[in-house]
Amino acid sequence: MTKMNPWENALRQLDDVIEVLDIDSSTKDALSYPERVTESRILLKTDSGVDVYPAYRVWHNTARGPAKGGIRFHPQVSVEEVKALSMWMTWKNAVAGVPFGGGKGGIIVNPKELSKGELEGLSRGFVRSLGSLFGQNTDIPAPDVNTNPTIMGWMIDEYETMRGKKEPGALTGKPIELGGSEGRTEATGLGGFYATLNAIKEFEIRGKRVAVQGFGNVGYYAAKFFSNHGFKVVAVSDSKGGIYDEQGLDIEKIRATKLKTGKVKGPGKEIKNAELLELPVSILVPCAIENVINQNNAADIEAKLIVELANGPTTPDADKILEEQGKIVIPDVLANSGGVTVSYLEWVQNRMGYYWTQKEVREKMKTVMDGAFTQVHKKYKEQKKSMRVAAISLAVECVVEAMKLRGQL
Ligand code: NAD
Repeated sequence: MTKMNPWENALRQLDDVIEVLDIDSSTKDALSYPERVTESRILLKTDSGVDVYPAYRVWHNTARGPAKGGIRFHPQVSVEEVKALSMWMTWKNAVAGVPFGGGKGGIIVNPKELSKGELEGLSRGFVRSLGSLFGQNTDIPAPDVNTNPTIMGWMIDEYETMRGKKEPGALTGKPIELGGSEGRTEATGLGGFYATLNAIKEFEIRGKRVAVQGFGNVGYYAAKFFSNHGFKVVAVSDSKGGIYDEQGLDIEKIRATKLKTGKVKGPGKEIKNAELLELPVSILVPCAIENVINQNNAADIEAKLIVELANGPTTPDADKILEEQGKIVIPDVLANSGGVTVSYLEWVQNRMGYYWTQKEVREKMKTVMDGAFTQVHKKYKEQKKSMRVAAISLAVECVVEAMKLRGQL
């Protein structure tokens, strides 16, 4: 039965790896329990009263460095989801080789129902409530679904006001003027594009037709880099549905319409998100939420290559079906690591007080992503399992080694 609970899915992925690596049960337990789960509530005063929002910050494992991971604002956030996302951050940071552990945060809220002032109040409330965890050497948040550089700007201001000092490295994904990095906004989409180029080469993927699900920060930039580099993006979508044109879409036009109307619209056939996943394309790029590829639709996916820019878009049951059908899945912990890699570069720049150009940042990110792909692919060839098992295996080995060196295991 498909588990739609992301935490159960994350644990199942870990089980698959533990089986291959032959890890003892106490180490397994140590990796299966998050280091710290903090639950809180934010009070937001409005003209009509006080609204209460549950909020979470989870550190999965900090053996390799401070907790690092985004903050999500979404009505379906749950502690289980935040735990899963934090575990995936632990693996992702280890695969990329950046010196961070895994963390994640979230608020159960539909931000679309808030005014700009309320959104700012909620963002500052998150920091007042959970910001004692933050710090450039302890826990470094960043944007995720429905959070962005503007929100990071409010959060770093609240944090620095609380601490009475400037500390830009306590949070990444900031606006450039507040110590953000060139190249951060587009980093996850661009990194996903680099990962795809590596996958095309290693797995001899033919065909240039691409479908992209989700048209937010990650999806828009992914679609843009594909369509600017000789690929044909034939479908894109957001939460309300999508459009399909087998001749290829004009990504900038769709972006302009989305900014104006809040919807993905344009010339082309209107399609549902479920249809987008099953289109006759070579490359499918999920850039929205978890569990969209599951046991109910995995067998109907035509794309030969699935590049996970969303976190957790494929359930373990779907993974098995895709594997049986000879599909290649480039897992989230590898494919979408461009974002945290440039967050790392932002943190480094904040700490040294010296800033690189966009070209320098992109080159450094490409070096990290190409290196990570090569390592994971090598492991994949040795293990003959899947790219996900290979990536998480590499990560688990790094994390276990760090825990042993600390004397924790
Ligand atoms: P975002 O809020 O900017 O965009 C999310 C997009 O997904 C929006 O277009 C939204 O309409 C769409 N969406 C929401 N529910 C959907 C559904 N049911 N079906 C189809 N589309 C839906 O968020 P983002 O930063 O682009 O993040 C997208 C995904 O990428 C998330 O899984 C996130 O965890 C992951 N990710 C983001 C980053 C980053 O740097 N922002 C880094 C790594 C991974």
